Amino acid sequence: MSEVFNFCAGPAMLPTPVMAKAQQEFLNWQGTGSSVMELSHRSGIYIAMAEKAEADLRELMSIPDNYKVLFCHGGGRGQFSAVPLNLLPEGKSADYIISGSWSKAAAAEAKNFGNINVIDINQDEQGSASLMSSNDWPLNKDAAYVHYCPNETVNGIEINTIPETNGVPLVADMSSTILSHEVDVSKFGLIYAGAQKNIGPSGLTIVIVREDLLGHAHKATPCIMNYKTAADSDSMYNTPPTYAWYLAGLVFQWLKELGGVKEIAKVNQAKAELLYQAIDQSELYLNHIEAQYRSKMNIPFWLKDDSLNEQFLKESEAAGLTALQGHRIVGGMRASIYNAMPIEGVRALVDFMQEFEKRNS
Ligand SMILES: *Cc1c(COP(=O)(O)O)cnc(C)c1O
Repeated sequence: MSEVFNFCAGPAMLPTPVMAKAQQEFLNWQGTGSSVMELSHRSGIYIAMAEKAEADLRELMSIPDNYKVLFCHGGGRGQFSAVPLNLLPEGKSADYIISGSWSKAAAAEAKNFGNINVIDINQDEQGSASLMSSNDWPLNKDAAYVHYCPNETVNGIEINTIPETNGVPLVADMSSTILSHEVDVSKFGLIYAGAQKNIGPSGLTIVIVREDLLGHAHKATPCIMNYKTAADSDSMYNTPPTYAWYLAGLVFQWLKELGGVKEIAKVNQAKAELLYQAIDQSELYLNHIEAQYRSKMNIPFWLKDDSLNEQFLKESEAAGLTALQGHRIVGGMRASIYNAMPIEGVRALVDFMQEFEKRNS
């Protein structure tokens, strides 16, 4: 099979060296004669691997000591419930910033558990999509927390500065942006991310939570969603997604070998620039998001002539550029270019786009 570049938004491609290593170790992990996924999560050899993965993630993100790192089940959407269950006491309310479809879904779920103040920051100006500046967000100073989504995977909209919440804990759904560029974790109360975009296979969810926020969960919080229970049991209250945890550990090692988040951020910046430039310079492709809010991970683009969509998808697929169809609610195309996507993949896409435009103008 010739080389394929997979632009899927999630589950997304994983680094080729990681997949090769996993394959090599698949049947006999560290001389055990078993696969990682066949071993007890209580075995010494597994725990050592799990601890190393956590230590590597802490190093990659410079996570301060007063934060717990939890390896959970349930994906990003599991956290849509777990966050209010753990952090929103009765009688309080939480601010939910809406910048696209995932933050909207998070707010809708949170409403099941308490008082939610929805703040829609979308602003469309003369055909271009924009957001209200975070300085102008009408935040409630008594809120239990402020929830936002720094990178809206479906819409391709990114908030690239950390909002100031004046002491109110900031909660971020980083599912599609974690580890893609440096962030100051100390500015957050809680960060969560489903693994299947930038970390590993689906089934694993990372939660990074400041310790003082633990221990205030609703009485009815299921044990497997209770952060305190997870923290007290080193994320092994019940059987964790063991194989996903192992693969995440391999991804962390790979990223460290590349020079860490600082280095991959440069590559991500170059990849995004290359693709946006190709879109902006063309007569056929369009991205209408205001420059400062354009995502570096998920880049949607639309063909000015809609009738060419099907042909574009068919021919790009045949050229080994897969999963470029945009999300059904926004249409058009979307190239997801997470950490694992090499710059060669973006170059191949840009070459294809230019060649397709020539043939169809
Ligand atoms: C993919 C995604 C989710 C949902 O993740 P699941 O693991 O499918 O629940 C939530 N938030 C964002 C920003 C995402 O990109």
